[in-house]
Amino acid sequence: TAAELAEIDRRVLVHPHNHGSQSERITIVRGQGCTVWDAHGVELLDVMGAGNWVAQVGHGRPELADAAARQIRTLEYYTGFDIFANDQSITLAQRLVDLAPDGLDRVFFTNGGSESVETAFKFARLYHHHRGEPDRTWFISRNFAYHGSTFASGTATGFPGIHEGIGPEFPNVARVSTPHPYRAPDISPGRDLTDFLIEELAATIERIGPGNVAAMIGEPVMGGAGILVPPADYWPRVRELLSRHGILLIADEVVTGYGRTGAWYDSADRGMQADLVTVAKGLTSGYAPLGAVLMSDAVAGTITGGDTYLFHGHTYSGHATACAIAHANLDLLEQEKLVDRARTVGEWLHETLAPLAGLPLVGEVRVAGATVGVELVADRETREPLMADWVTRALREKHRVAAREYGNTLVMAPPLIISRAEVERAAEALTDVLRAGAG
Ligand code: PMP
Repeated sequence: TAAELAEIDRRVLVHPHNHGSQSERITIVRGQGCTVWDAHGVELLDVMGAGNWVAQVGHGRPELADAAARQIRTLEYYTGFDIFANDQSITLAQRLVDLAPDGLDRVFFTNGGSESVETAFKFARLYHHHRGEPDRTWFISRNFAYHGSTFASGTATGFPGIHEGIGPEFPNVARVSTPHPYRAPDISPGRDLTDFLIEELAATIERIGPGNVAAMIGEPVMGGAGILVPPADYWPRVRELLSRHGILLIADEVVTGYGRTGAWYDSADRGMQADLVTVAKGLTSGYAPLGAVLMSDAVAGTITGGDTYLFHGHTYSGHATACAIAHANLDLLEQEKLVDRARTVGEWLHETLAPLAGLPLVGEVRVAGATVGVELVADRETREPLMADWVTRALREKHRVAAREYGNTLVMAPPLIISRAEVERAAEALTDVLRAGAG
């Protein structure tokens, strides 16, 4: 029963993100389309991609269940990263490269986003090592970025709270400012935001020593930071600066990859020309844990062609069933034109959330493809942040809508199959909650 599940959950399962408010736990037991049901049978509209920017094709898709069952009957798994491979991982790797921007020609499979970031960091260092620049050990990331929760990826993550009590952390990570136009008023009036960010990045590189930096990592559009779309000239200018110093660029597309913002790989549209791209989430829509790192021939060549032997791989790298599910997921994204549809969903979000603009608690509404961040403020003049946890609770309890908050930003990232009527329902619910206010 729901009560028994809740009792066992409280007693046995560790929830580091939610250790204080036990009563807030919700046990989800079923999903179909954009709807999920909890253990009490309560129906919720899922506008947060299974809670975590994941469910591109929606819940309960028989196509993916069939693909999984077929593959498990044929070959569930065989180790895949040393002398063995399997057909599913080989054909999937080719497919990811075919969809990718020019210059990303090689693939390494992982089990998720954090592992992809770890792999990208190792490969970046190894690339420089093989090119005779072993001092290039530093990484640059950005405040409020999310890159994962393992040691290196967690150190690169700029969320407050992820660094507490576990030090010393992964060495040689520097963080720079976030491209956050709404919060840029801190820079002197009339100053261009990109100019400011580029100067700060250049100064950081100088401080570390240009010959000591391996790579910079960044999400093309920042997800967990609250849907931050950088100024159009930001990535091209970052890329140019990094190239001048021989520094690699890692695009973290764990959230943006496979349609979320209306592109197969968002980094291509924003002029990143990344040397490595990390992906996960949307690659399988959550039907199996799978991640990957795409990289240039130049990066892969130094890893596979050098004298140093690197033992790197995970038991489940290129897991046959996960890769078969990814194939079926990509089939659906293609057949149902869901990457284009993400842009349509974005237009619906934009339109239906327009009434929010006049509300006193709403600082800014930011839409990027099928995702929206609504930044809340206690005061529109001072832009003092207002934490958004009460909004997600009210959405759930009053309107049966499951969204998510990151600090003071309410975020929605629905399945790309969401209907106009469902978007309207979510938008009306959010408008109602924000109109009623925090009281
Ligand atoms: N990078 C980004 C941009 C992410 O949003 C996340 C997860 N939210 C990760 C990396 C880490 O992925 P995972 O949780 O699968 O390890």
